Amino acid sequence: MHLADFKQRAPTTLILEQRSRYENDRTWCFWGDDKTPFAALAAHQWRIVSVAKADQVVRVECADAVYQMLSSEQFYSAAARALSNAPRIQLQMDSPLLSEPQSKGGRWHFQTSKGKFSAAMVVDTRPAAPVANDAALMWQSFYGQEIDCSQPIFEPDCAELMSFSSASPGRVAFTYVLPISSTRALVEFTVFAVKPQSAKALSADLAAAIEQRVKGAVFAVLRSEQGVLPMGLTPALKDSGAHDKGSTYVRVGLFAGAARPATGYAFQRIQRWAGDCAARIAGGGSPLAHTKDPWLLARMDTLFLQVIQRQPQLAPDMFMDIFSRVESQRVIRFLSDQGRLSDYAAIVWALPVRPFLRQLFRLPSWL
Ligand SMILES: Cc1cc2nc3c(=O)[nH]c(=O)nc-3n(C[C@H](O)[C@H](O)[C@H](O)COP(=O)(O)OP(=O)(O)OC[C@H]3O[C@@H](n4cnc5c(N)ncnc54)[C@H](O)[C@@H]3O)c2cc1C
Repeated sequence: MHLADFKQRAPTTLILEQRSRYENDRTWCFWGDDKTPFAALAAHQWRIVSVAKADQVVRVECADAVYQMLSSEQFYSAAARALSNAPRIQLQMDSPLLSEPQSKGGRWHFQTSKGKFSAAMVVDTRPAAPVANDAALMWQSFYGQEIDCSQPIFEPDCAELMSFSSASPGRVAFTYVLPISSTRALVEFTVFAVKPQSAKALSADLAAAIEQRVKGAVFAVLRSEQGVLPMGLTPALKDSGAHDKGSTYVRVGLFAGAARPATGYAFQRIQRWAGDCAARIAGGGSPLAHTKDPWLLARMDTLFLQVIQRQPQLAPDMFMDIFSRVESQRVIRFLSDQGRLSDYAAIVWALPVRPFLRQLFRLPSWL
């Protein structure tokens, strides 16, 4: 889509896609205003978000940077419209890459189920596979269902970001609720843990989270979605296929560092990368990989993940502290990669000191 914006300046481009069609398989959320990319397509937005634990609830106003929801259905349709006006760009469905691209004579050569192709440059968004559990510090696994309930039970103005479940060993677990109306919502059960979890493993927790909200009322399941996102990629990923292939070949996307380590938010980061990468290619340059996060942000995210990996039971209080003690604009800027130094300081100030010092100095957690 970003290359299509460059019209005649876009190079001849072939998109090889293994899917046979694009379905409404995911929901992307992000904070922003009406200038944020794709805000115009957002299906719903919330001016209030909440974080809750046991009987405590923190509600945060975010009228300046509302929480927005974009359905993948809308996004894929917009992409199809953009490509239909871009004769130099061809999307070829049902075309999985069957082997690793090979470099020969200054071009990359591929084998797909639809035949052989070659290209001067490659932007590879395939997930690196197989991925070992230690490829990430933690994994965010979630399973959600969009439900339509016979009675009004949801608050359409408020998105439940995290409603923590009671502590269970080795994982941080919470429910994420995106109400689209008083009867309809996407309810997701999410776990941060050192191993990825399948939708099947999360299904009993999801059923319980839905039941807790509908309280016996009749509901229909409209659709479901699931995901496993790496949180804090480790060097182990380098051994699972993401090799450096030089300046004409880049690996990007979730398994090449697209996601914010501490949250898994990736959509707007990918849009920023895609805009920059397309501009570079249209200007005659080679494709861009993801840029590294600023040192301080990367260090804070890693430390945060190391603390909750070691002591997941601390996570609910830490998130509650961040949302209750820090001004909402600061938290949202921090979560949306727009943080200023004073925002970082406010977040650090809100968090308990001891677990972070223990982690920094590698002290045992009982000290
Ligand atoms: C259900 C779900 C909800 C999410 N919600 C949010 C959110 O709210 N906010 C947020 O910021 N992020 C969210 N994310 C994370 C992230 O934004 C998305 O996962 C995003 O789609 C990642 O982009 P990507 O390019 O890495 O992968 P994808 O969008 O999955 O694109 C990779 C493409 O490569 C194709 N492919 C794979 N293998 C091959 C092959 N061998 N040959 C050819 N094609 C191949 C796939 O079919 C796919 O179309 C969510 C993720 C999921 C799964």
